[in-house]
Amino acid sequence: MNRELLTTDRPYLVVDEFEADGLGGQVATTTIFLTVSECPVGCNMCDLYRNTLTTPTPPGSVPIQMDAALAGKGESRWLKLYNSGNFFDPRSIPPSDYSAIARRCDQFSRVVVENHPRFGAVRLKQFRGLLETRLEVAVGLETVQPRWLDRMGKRMSRDDFDRYARWLLSEQVDLRVFLIVGMPGVSQREALRWARLSARHAVACGARHISMIPARHGHGWNGRAGELPEISLDALVELASESIADADGRAVVTIDLWGFDPDTPSVDALRRLNLDQGTRSP
Ligand code: SF4
Repeated sequence: MNRELLTTDRPYLVVDEFEADGLGGQVATTTIFLTVSECPVGCNMCDLYRNTLTTPTPPGSVPIQMDAALAGKGESRWLKLYNSGNFFDPRSIPPSDYSAIARRCDQFSRVVVENHPRFGAVRLKQFRGLLETRLEVAVGLETVQPRWLDRMGKRMSRDDFDRYARWLLSEQVDLRVFLIVGMPGVSQREALRWARLSARHAVACGARHISMIPARHGHGWNGRAGELPEISLDALVELASESIADADGRAVVTIDLWGFDPDTPSVDALRRLNLDQGTRSP
């Protein structure tokens, strides 16, 4: 999406899909990609700023965007409310809108928002207190390889992540973790090895869902996207199978399939792996 085409009364994208629920079933889920203010963290692999405003989000616009997105969406049970940044950044999601947003979440049994550990513990508690549905926070850990985490400019160490994960669980908030598979200058083998180790770490930290995102050339990477490893679809199928086995039903592990040709047999295999999981082996 081109920044000039964004308007504050419409999300820039709405997606309906099924997700594994972690209990052996699948659940209809709507994802609303809100048009809101840009993220101030500035990780160097991130190009989400292209879908954001350069000014603070006007109060009242997020509930209007939700109404536009949710009209006629009676079947979805879960809602992902993604803002290309951090939900508890008040410049992105005005706290004066929390109540109106929470009321629009009532029809769902789970609402997932994104957040970086630097933002808003008090605001999180305030928003959670207004919800009648289960809150899940998605955190971009990306990798547990410390040098890679530094190179991405995440402004978060693995210890910061671990502390935040513990705190979320103590607040009865579920944890979703985003991981990136690959970064510029590393081999496919290293990318896969660290993705699997990172997924194991996320499981140990209590993640309910781990979403692995293959690094794509369209991402930022400060002009070094051309040095990303080529990761084959067969290797991703193997990574998914092994990580799902590692999780052993304690977490759902999925590979993000956006941008892949859905008619490819390996992509179909990944889609089935994404959906058919969720019960711990005896
Ligand atoms: S990855 Fe997340 S925290 Fe980093 S710049 Fe992008 S939206 Fe902000």
